[in-house]
Amino acid sequence: MHRRIIVPGVLASATLLLAIPASAASPSPGAPGIGDPYYPDYGNGGYDVSHYDLRLKYRPATDELEGTATLLVRATKDLSRFNLDFLLDVSEVRVDGAKASYASSGEHELEITPRKPVAKGTDFTVVVRYRGVPSEQEAYGFTSWHRTPDGGVAANEPEAAWWWFPSNDHPRDKATYDVSVQVPDGTQAISNGTLQSTSSRAGWTRYSWRSNKPQATYLATLAVGRFDLTTGTTESGIPVLNAYSKDLGDHAGAARASLERTGEVADWLTEYFGPYPYNALGGYVPNTDTGYALETQTRPFYSPRQFANGSNVSVVVHELAHQWYGNLVSVSGWKDIWINEGFARYAQWLWSEHEGEGTAQELADHVYASHPADDPFWTVKPGDPGPQNQFHGAVYDRGALALHVLRREIGDEAFFAVLKGWPRKYAHGNATVADFRRYAEEVSGKRLTALFETWLYEPAKPAAWTARTTPKAPDALVPPKSWKKIAATNGVHDTGHGHDHRHGRG
Ligand SMILES: [Zn+2]
Repeated sequence: MHRRIIVPGVLASATLLLAIPASAASPSPGAPGIGDPYYPDYGNGGYDVSHYDLRLKYRPATDELEGTATLLVRATKDLSRFNLDFLLDVSEVRVDGAKASYASSGEHELEITPRKPVAKGTDFTVVVRYRGVPSEQEAYGFTSWHRTPDGGVAANEPEAAWWWFPSNDHPRDKATYDVSVQVPDGTQAISNGTLQSTSSRAGWTRYSWRSNKPQATYLATLAVGRFDLTTGTTESGIPVLNAYSKDLGDHAGAARASLERTGEVADWLTEYFGPYPYNALGGYVPNTDTGYALETQTRPFYSPRQFANGSNVSVVVHELAHQWYGNLVSVSGWKDIWINEGFARYAQWLWSEHEGEGTAQELADHVYASHPADDPFWTVKPGDPGPQNQFHGAVYDRGALALHVLRREIGDEAFFAVLKGWPRKYAHGNATVADFRRYAEEVSGKRLTALFETWLYEPAKPAAWTARTTPKAPDALVPPKSWKKIAATNGVHDTGHGHDHRHGRG
C-alpha cells in the first residue's frame, strides 16, 4: 500500500528489476508432467534424478510396504516446488536435510515444497519416508501391484513405480538404483541387477540389489515371495540369476526349460545387437496370473501363463531383445513404442528362423496375408498408435513387418549394420522413430521417408510389396539349414507383453 505512493521507491525497484539477469527469474513450480502428449501427467518437469536408493521392508501377510527413498537430483530450473509420482502414504519429506512440506494432488502426484527454493543446476537430495498397502492403491482405476499368495510384484508398462517408490516416472529420466528390501526369513526379494548381499537378523532377511547403469523407472521391478534361485554365466561371462516361485505348479518345468536358456539367448542376440549392455542377466517367474511378460532391466518378469503350453524361449528372446531395444535405447515419448516392440518381435522372427520353425520372410508373409484389408489391424499406426493402442498387436506384428520391408529395401548388409549400430549410437539415451529412420538412411544411403510413411503411419493395408533384395538366412552365414515348413502361426502370436488392464492387450 505505502509503496504505491512513495514514488522514488517504485523507481528504485524498477531499476533493480532491470539489473537482474534473466537467469535469476523468480523460482517457480516444476511441471506436473514431463511433456509426453500420450500421458500429460507422467513424469515431472524441472529436475533430473541420477540415483534412487530404496531401503524397504515388506510384510507378505498383510502386503505392507514401508521404508525410505533417497533420490539424488539436479535442478534443471529454479524450483520453488516440484512433483514426484507416487501413491503410498508419506510421513516425512526432507530436501537437503531440511523438512519440506508436501501434499498429494491429481491421480498420482506428490507435490514437494522445499524450505528454500532450489537454484537451477544445483544437486540436491530428497528423502521420502513412506508406508502403505500397494494393492489397495489405485490410479485411473487400476493397480500395477500384483498381489500373490506369498507376496507381491511391481511390474507394468508404462507405469509401475507409483506403487512402490516415488519417482520421476518417465523413460526420459533414467537413473541408477540400489534396492534393499527386508522380508521375513524364508522369503526372497527380487529386483534388477546384481545381488550385492543378503543378511539375516531377528527373523528378517535383507536382499540388496544394485542396477548400476541408467534405467528407466518402468524397468525397475520388485518381487517378494518364496523363490528358488539359480545362477550361471553366459559364454561371454555375464552372471545369470533366475528366480522361480516355489508355487508354479505344473508350469515349473516349462518355465525353467525356457529361462535356463537366458544366457544362450543373450549370447545369440549379441550377434545382431552388439555386446550385452549390462553386467547382470536373468529373469523371474512369480506366481501371478497376469497375462504378460515385461523387460524389466537385466531381469525380465515372466508370468507362469507364458509357459502353459510348454517351453517358450520365444518370449525370453522378446524380453531380452528389449535390453537393447527399449532399455539401452529408450523411447523419447511413448508414441515411439515401435522402436521397442517392432524390434523385439522381429528378434522373435529371427529366433524362429534360427530354430528352424519358420523364416522371417515366411512370418512377414503370414502377417501380411492373415489380415484382410478391412481388418481394423491396419488402422493402427505403429509409428504413432495413440495411448489406447500403445500395445496393440499391430505395433508388434505390423511393426515387425515394417522392419522386414525395410530389410528387403536396403539389403541384409545395411539392415543388420543398422540393427547393431543403433544401440551403440543412442546407448543409455532416448530416441524417436524419426531418429531411427534418419539413422537407417545414413547407413543405407537411401531415402526412406515413403517406406516409413506407408508401413508405420498409413492407417490402411499397404499395397502388396515388391522386394528389391532377397534376404539371406540371418545366421548367414552359418551353414545353410533346410527350414522346416512354417507351422501356421508359430512365432507370430507369442504373447508380446506388458501393460495393464487399461491398455490391455490380453
Ligand atoms: Zn515387448
